[in-house]
Amino acid sequence: VGKKPNELITDLIKLGELAGINQPISEANARKLCASYGYELEIGAAPKPAPAPAAPAKPKPEDNPANLKERPPVVTFMGHVDHGKTSLQDAVRHTHVTAQEAGAITQHIGASTVTHNGKPITFIDTPGHAAFTNMRARGANLTDIVVLVVSATEGFKPQTVEAMNHAKAAKVPIIVAINKIDLPEADPDKILLHMQQNGLTSEDWGGDVGTVRVSAKTGQGLPDLLDRILLEAEILELKANPKRRAAGAVLEAQMEVGLGPTASVLVQDGTLHVGDTILCGEHYGRIRTLINDKGERVKTAGPSVPVKVVGLSGVPEAGDRLEIFESEKAARAEAQERVAAKRGNMLATSAIATAEDLFSKLNSNNQNSLNIIIKSDVKGSGEAIAHSLAELPHEKIKAEVVANAVGPISENDISLAAATNSIVVGFHVRVNPGVNEMAKKQKVEIRLYSIIYELLEDITDALAGKLEPEK
Ligand code: GDP
Repeated sequence: VGKKPNELITDLIKLGELAGINQPISEANARKLCASYGYELEIGAAPKPAPAPAAPAKPKPEDNPANLKERPPVVTFMGHVDHGKTSLQDAVRHTHVTAQEAGAITQHIGASTVTHNGKPITFIDTPGHAAFTNMRARGANLTDIVVLVVSATEGFKPQTVEAMNHAKAAKVPIIVAINKIDLPEADPDKILLHMQQNGLTSEDWGGDVGTVRVSAKTGQGLPDLLDRILLEAEILELKANPKRRAAGAVLEAQMEVGLGPTASVLVQDGTLHVGDTILCGEHYGRIRTLINDKGERVKTAGPSVPVKVVGLSGVPEAGDRLEIFESEKAARAEAQERVAAKRGNMLATSAIATAEDLFSKLNSNNQNSLNIIIKSDVKGSGEAIAHSLAELPHEKIKAEVVANAVGPISENDISLAAATNSIVVGFHVRVNPGVNEMAKKQKVEIRLYSIIYELLEDITDALAGKLEPEK
């Protein structure tokens, strides 16, 4: 009947039947459901099984493990405002331009590549966790390593903790850069303590979190930071197959005079070539020109390489995936299908109540945890709530705390929730202006409480799949 599982589940709830995605339903309700979609249910012979697959073909070049090659790490700087993310990024870029590159005009294409000890490292240009999380919410996990920038004079601040939570939720390893050590009041030991208090044990204290003392101003420690990034990359054994067709994600896109729509893309696997037919989100085209971060025209771009692509039919969105198609016709057909599907989705999803949506989310994703982001007025309450949640009785689904922080519910909490399929629970906190609208758009559920007992009762119900929508 052309419906998505969560739509079916929601409509079934309205008929009083609570069913998960792999459950049989009653004939009567199946009939009613079909009727409501304009079909008549006919019970007959099972459809013919699909024809047996042909003899296994030779592995395509993409599947051949022999083609896997080491690829450069992709790094994002995150941290509290004014702790030096932008300065560090600039400093790293400027100290590591080779002589031949120095003459070239640097192009802003959303990411750039720096070479250290003969090895390239790609840095995403937009520091901070907003871009990081928005990308993740759209399914594009680009970052391999997060450099958490902490000012040696100020230590951990709310956004430091927030950035750390985002990185942890994405399971991306963190290197801590203790910045501004040139200042007389710098106190790196305090940062080691703050790290410890936030669950990051520095390697200085026998843990495994890389910690580097740097100054974006004097350049001190920058080579150590790059060394540490390369070491982390080695541990991660980052690999890609340059021989396969390219796959990547859009970092940013715009309309440019003389070029038309352009998209800066990070190639994540395979190699992108001039002449490839591509699809990015709802836009397609043949690549006319590829421009690298030095402003040079190139013929190809391999794994972890950022390039600007010229030749698309329209401007895609950051986070859209790049795919290669055999023909322009096929790419156009898929693009049109996406536009149509999006229109249909917008109509369908607006009708789903949030709690039902939550329930169906749990079922349709085969998720066995209810992910929760806690925001509370004081640290002690947040901890108490997390502790109680961990102790809640549960059967198949258990409560999983993705992040636990102090302060009002912000846009960042919603992006994190969207990226991790979580609900946001506020305890004695308010919701920042505009955040409710954003939550609605991204279908993130926010629940506010002032009594822990009520919160726990609701979550217990949610775990049992019985949560009522918030009035
Ligand atoms: P961001 O908001 O994290 O991107 O921080 P910025 O890079 O904009 O830096 C904030 C301020 O700190 C600026 O005035 C920088 O000049 C200064 N700053 C950044 N790094 C250092 C450093 O290593 N030493 C000193 N003394 N100042 C720094």
